[in-house]
Amino acid sequence: MKRIGVLTSGGDNPGLNPCIRAVVRSALHLGLEVMGIRRGYAGLLDGEIIEMNGRSVGGIIGRGGTILGTARCPEFYEPKGRKEALRSLNRFGIDGLVVIGGNGSLTGALELWRMGFPVIGIPGTIDNDVNGTDISIGVDTALNTILDAIDKIKDTASSHNRAFLIETMGRNSGYLALASGIAGGAELVLCPEVEVSFEEICQTIEEAYVLGKSHCIIIVAEGWKPGTQVLAQYLLEREDTLGFSVRVTQLGHVQRGGSPSAFDRLLATQMGAAAPRELLKGNAGHMIGLVKNEIALTPLEEAVAFDKQLSPQMVELAEIMRK
Ligand code: ADP
Repeated sequence: MKRIGVLTSGGDNPGLNPCIRAVVRSALHLGLEVMGIRRGYAGLLDGEIIEMNGRSVGGIIGRGGTILGTARCPEFYEPKGRKEALRSLNRFGIDGLVVIGGNGSLTGALELWRMGFPVIGIPGTIDNDVNGTDISIGVDTALNTILDAIDKIKDTASSHNRAFLIETMGRNSGYLALASGIAGGAELVLCPEVEVSFEEICQTIEEAYVLGKSHCIIIVAEGWKPGTQVLAQYLLEREDTLGFSVRVTQLGHVQRGGSPSAFDRLLATQMGAAAPRELLKGNAGHMIGLVKNEIALTPLEEAVAFDKQLSPQMVELAEIMRK
């Protein structure tokens, strides 16, 4: 193996730049050439590929976003698109690929590996929905952004005696909602993985009021059904009995931006540095993860095979802490 490629794909997160930097510098250290592929699989198909050196990743460790850009690429779902990708990799003399992205991007990486190309994956997603790693790159920074928002909303909620529904991202995973709910001291967390009825939600709000709380913070994962707006409408019609008046804040894309936290910089650097090393060792077809605080490899197939489960201990903790 002489020349590897690196790309960021799918949903962006705040830890991608330190990871690109680590892949490039570790590869150079190992005597490999590195090509940066712009806009994920889309740029791979279009041949948007540039040579990287130590300087091209200078000054980015603390910057959010991704200097390579990211994209969704519908063509890559089809064998024809992936064959084009192989052709492009061949044209640029790339003989190994590092894919940094979420569940979808890693599934794409697996497909490429199944076609015989040496690929290694790195989990980069604020959703934290990838198996084979305790945590993905970007989650910690996103959590800190959410906590900052929760703290501020609590200030205003307490001033006016309000109940707030705060919607967090996470696609079908409730991890961001649950973790930020625990760390932010929320009264209730609504995740797609845990069933809660509207009656129970009303009960929790009323209980918070009777307990003498000055606010009631409910974190709602974007994947929770029937959704934040439906719940808000239901609660608004019952404000008289709830005690609190109700407001909604959808945090949105602010969760994807910002300077990566210390934890994310370290995680991204550890995972990124491991990728070229493991490619050289012949461990293509795997994803780099962090398991019990050690870098660990999981076959890509297992990493994306099933929905990652929420820890039952965390769910219980959120329940215990709310009173
Ligand atoms: P994320 O990586 O953040 O989960 P997506 O699910 O949108 O984001 O996936 C990003 C890209 O990965 C898609 O646009 C597509 O190009 C590729 N991809 C996703 N799923 C598959 C799949 N099952 N087969 C092949 N490529 C896929």
